[in-house]
Amino acid sequence: MRLVRYLIDDQPTWGMLEGDRVERLQDSPLTAPVQRTGQRLPLWDVTLLAPTLPTKIVAVGRNYPAHAAEHEVPVPQEPLIFLKPPSAVIGPGESIRLPSLSRQVEHEGELAVVIGRRGRCVDEVSAQEHVLGYTAANDVTARDLQRGDPQWTRGKGFDTFCPLGPWIETELELSGAGLTCSVNGELRQQGQLSEMVFSVDRLIAFISQVMTLEPGDVILTGTPAGVGPLVHGDRVSVSIDGLGELTNPVQAAE
Ligand code: ZN
Repeated sequence: MRLVRYLIDDQPTWGMLEGDRVERLQDSPLTAPVQRTGQRLPLWDVTLLAPTLPTKIVAVGRNYPAHAAEHEVPVPQEPLIFLKPPSAVIGPGESIRLPSLSRQVEHEGELAVVIGRRGRCVDEVSAQEHVLGYTAANDVTARDLQRGDPQWTRGKGFDTFCPLGPWIETELELSGAGLTCSVNGELRQQGQLSEMVFSVDRLIAFISQVMTLEPGDVILTGTPAGVGPLVHGDRVSVSIDGLGELTNPVQAAE
C-alpha cells in the first residue's frame, strides 16, 4: 500500500495511492486502522506533502562502507546516530534552499524508515512491528560546516535539508532493492540497500534503547557512495526500486 499526504481545500489529508488515483482516508494511519472513503482524485490533481511530520528524525552516519571510504573514515563499530530537526522537512517538489552560511551543500540519497507504532527498547526480532513503511529521503548536508563542527547539528539542520517522499510504501522488499541519486538526470549515487552495515531492524533496536520512537518518526539509514554538490537551479532525485522517486529543485538563499 502507498500512503500519501496531500492538500484538500488547503487541509493536509491522508490518502492511499492506487495506480494514478489518490483515495482519501478517514483518519491518519498513524492513529487508526486504514479506513477508505471512496473519494478519489487523479494524482496529477493533488499537491503531495511530506508523507509524515516526525517528532524527530534520527539519521545514521557511515552506514555504507563505500561512502565511509570516500570520506576516508572507518565504518563505525556501532551505529553512529545524529538528529535532524523536524523543521528541516519538506515534501516532494519543494525547494531545497542553499543557506548563505555554506559554500558546499551536498546531496545524500537515503532510505527512510517511517515508524508506525511507539517503541522503546525494541528487540531486533520485533522491530518490523514498529515500521509503518518506507519512503525516500535526501539527507542534505552543508559539508563545509559539517567538517568544521565537532557536532553535525548545523551542517545537517538547515530548513529544507530533509526532503521526504513521495509516499510511504508499506510493503517494500529491502533485499535486492537499489537506491540511486541523480542531479539533472545525471547519476551521482548508486547502491544496494543490502550494503548497509547496520540493518533497519538493528537500527530500530539501537535507537529505541536511547529514545522512544513515536508514530511518524523517521530514521534515515545512511547514504551510499557518490555524494556531491548541489547548486542553484539543480533538480535532485532520489529513487528507490519498488518505492518511487523523490525530486526537489535547488534554490539559492534569498
Ligand atoms: Zn546521511
